[in-house]
Amino acid sequence: MKMSKKLMVLPGKKPKLDRRDPAATPGAEGKQAAVELVEKHTKRMAALQYLLYAESKRAVLIVIQAMDAGGKDGVIRHVMTGLNPQGCKVTSFKVPSAEEMRHDFLWRVHKVVPAAGEVGIFNRSHYEDVLVVRVHKLVSKDVWSARYRQINAFEEMLAQNNVTILKFFLHISRGEQKKRLIERLDDPTKQWKISDADFSERRYWNDYMAAYEDALSQCSTPWAPWYVIPADHKRFRDLAVSQIIVETMEGLDMKFPKPSADLEKIRTTLVNSV
Ligand code: AMP
Ligand code: MG
Repeated sequence: MKMSKKLMVLPGKKPKLDRRDPAATPGAEGKQAAVELVEKHTKRMAALQYLLYAESKRAVLIVIQAMDAGGKDGVIRHVMTGLNPQGCKVTSFKVPSAEEMRHDFLWRVHKVVPAAGEVGIFNRSHYEDVLVVRVHKLVSKDVWSARYRQINAFEEMLAQNNVTILKFFLHISRGEQKKRLIERLDDPTKQWKISDADFSERRYWNDYMAAYEDALSQCSTPWAPWYVIPADHKRFRDLAVSQIIVETMEGLDMKFPKPSADLEKIRTTLVNSV
């Protein structure tokens, strides 16, 4: 069975996050095999991206969401390394600026949706507006609960305009998060990443899981599916994400455009030239 089938949240269904094991590794055959497959997938992704760029008919948008230390940066580093920086852009969504706050929540998002021929990667996304915003009651329930529908309509509009959307929730356990945060405390190369929020947010774990449960069940659609990636094991996480990207891009049936120039004429001219 395709990885994308296995891990997709079926539209209209609940993901039931509490029943999905973050340490699962379905279909994987050990660490070494996973590492080799990721390498193979990243090479394939590079070829597919080249084709996407050549064709310039559609864009690919990859949304990555996770709890703190869930592996968003890691996935971007390990899986997206194969992509050519020309034609690929990563956007990290932070607390909205004063200017962003004066607009609707999708304003800053729409501006950075990839153009035809490009791959866009969102490190966090418009989903923060139904996650952190809901958990911390930054807007009223009326406001956030209307957003699921607004997000679906927005993503449907993008899909109808040739944006292929894939959304990954990197699902880690609370225990794994604790382990990673403690490792960070001891790692001089990672200490800079630590914020008070990483630790205080742990108190809201269950609220976040409830918010994710709703976001994934309401916003996994045929035009923009959510995938729940078991992410306690980093190698499996990278394998699953890279495989789903390859499966999706292969399904796009892209073709190199026909050359617009008369190649035979050019060949003759070139051959006969000095
Ligand atoms: P990091 O990804 O660690 O750099 O942290 C970014 C922070 O910005 C996280 O704590 C997010 O929850 C927060 N953030 C992102 N988008 C929003 C938003 N729309 N409203 C409030 N906070 C946000
Ligand atoms: Mg953080």
